[in-house]
Amino acid sequence: MESGGRPSLCQFILLGTTSVVTAALYSVYRQKARVSQELKGAKKVHLGEDLKSILSEAPGKCVPYAVIEGAVRSVKETLNSQFVENCKGVIQSFTDVIGHYISGERPKGIQETEEMLKVGATLTGVGELVLDNNSVRLQPPKQGMQYYLSSQDFDSLLQRQESSVRLWKVLALVFGFATCATLFFILRKQYLQRQERLRLKQMQEEFQEHEAQLLSRAKPEDRESLKSACVVCLSSFKSCVFLECGHVCSCTECYRALPEPKKCPICRQAITRVIPLYNS
Ligand SMILES: [Zn+2]
Ligand SMILES: [Zn+2]
Repeated sequence: MESGGRPSLCQFILLGTTSVVTAALYSVYRQKARVSQELKGAKKVHLGEDLKSILSEAPGKCVPYAVIEGAVRSVKETLNSQFVENCKGVIQSFTDVIGHYISGERPKGIQETEEMLKVGATLTGVGELVLDNNSVRLQPPKQGMQYYLSSQDFDSLLQRQESSVRLWKVLALVFGFATCATLFFILRKQYLQRQERLRLKQMQEEFQEHEAQLLSRAKPEDRESLKSACVVCLSSFKSCVFLECGHVCSCTECYRALPEPKKCPICRQAITRVIPLYNS
């Protein structure tokens, strides 16, 4: 991944994606944790005669967030199940299965599913409890808290909420860790590339200094031969051209000794071809 020392687009996309996913997971986790905390803090009230007196004494004749457990009773007439004898309920819904049409098979019959809230089933409600014209009513809470009406008891409801909090927490942690790891690898790569560039620059400077010293100390008749000396060993003559950069700077032996992948000692471009020079 030679990208001139800057993080590549791919790395940016990876880092961006993991950060966004982490932030999203964390916000879901925070929201779930808040709901779970509110649920724990909800006031437990018991159905009974003293409920109305408790409510009438409460400020605004309401409990903003209350848990209430009770059995289902119908207010008007009860509904009878079409399929099960002596099964009475208050909410009824039917679903026809149309899957056959979608899958292309010819239907051999229709399966009908009946769902019903049975009379006598235990229900748990969590919400705002208000005393309205001498009747107690449970309604969605005003302060953005979650409204529950469930056939589970309160403890299972709380447990389910808490296990979902744990799940989102683990997901947020996993993605948070992935984001940190990605950031760490990008920074480490940047650091190593920077170190390598500095090292090469220093080597070039040292070499130029050394060459300048040699040239200044050499007798005038030797200067020409020094200028045509290999920049690596300074003892043989330059004897090859590097392509694509076109630098003539090294002898054939030093070219062979260059570490793989071979790069021009002057400009650090990759050497794709070498053309030998013949001095006549
Ligand atoms: Zn050489
Ligand atoms: Zn070069």
